[in-house]
Amino acid sequence: MVDANKKVAVVTGAGQGIGRAIALRLAKDGFAIGSLDFNTVTAKETVALIEAAGGKALAVSVDVSKREEVISAVDQVVAKFGRLDVMINNAGLGPTTPLEDITPEIYHKVFDVNVGGVYWGIQAALKHFKARKPAKTGDIVGKIINASSQAGQVGNPDLAVYGATKFAVRGITQTAARDLAKLGVTVNAYCPGIVRTPMMENIAKKVADENKQSLEWGLQQWAKTVTLGRISEPEDVAACVSYLAGPDSDYMTGQALIIDGGMVFN
Ligand code: NAD
Repeated sequence: MVDANKKVAVVTGAGQGIGRAIALRLAKDGFAIGSLDFNTVTAKETVALIEAAGGKALAVSVDVSKREEVISAVDQVVAKFGRLDVMINNAGLGPTTPLEDITPEIYHKVFDVNVGGVYWGIQAALKHFKARKPAKTGDIVGKIINASSQAGQVGNPDLAVYGATKFAVRGITQTAARDLAKLGVTVNAYCPGIVRTPMMENIAKKVADENKQSLEWGLQQWAKTVTLGRISEPEDVAACVSYLAGPDSDYMTGQALIIDGGMVFN
């Protein structure tokens, strides 16, 4: 049976890494979870982990670069759980692209997922948020949370495409915050640093292989650039998103919270 009082959060890219950690954390916080991912198997694994811990979740396959798929996926979650409270546009691609290697294909692919996925996620969520009118000015009926990066705060070497998408996500977040406030919707972003996920491990492995070193060595090269002296675990980021998804951040909108152990200082 649908529990009409149970809040619902949709997380894209919930099959692994940061997205999975966010899904597990928000389930622990009491949300029912829409686990959306390109990878059906891992999206279902996330659901199994949530259910094993006593939570509720639904897996839906989606390519976030496809507008109709995202709208349909969010509709399926709302049909199952009866409402939508938080939309987390987390799915992203992070290829390293030395300037001279950038092709039209890679440029379009990464923008379609990292930027397009945010537009479509916002539209998919708005459809449901608009049905719930705030009782008075300042009441919050929905929250949108987007994945940016410390690479969306400063230029990083070899990340001209990825970094541009993450700067774009901050821009969209600021505009959407202004456009949607009157509907009672807040829009914020999170900016992780170096997080131990399959995305980061792939990059670290490349560096390690080039230097004939281990994966752990590759990961530790970044720890030197982090003030707190260690790279991030996905759960560090999930804790930040938990704050953005919960009531304690109701008076915050248009912000991009840096959760990077002290790499970028603003
Ligand atoms: P990851 O590659 O480990 O996981 C990404 C997930 O998104 C995967 O499950 C993948 O299947 C899914 N996905 C990819 N393309 C998709 C698509 N088109 N449609 C639906 N799902 C898709 O990545 P991660 O490290 O967990 O990163 C998550 C987010 O955090 C990304 O937006 C990334 O840019 C951002 N981020 C990561 C780091 C880091 O250090 N790992 C740092 C800063 C920002």
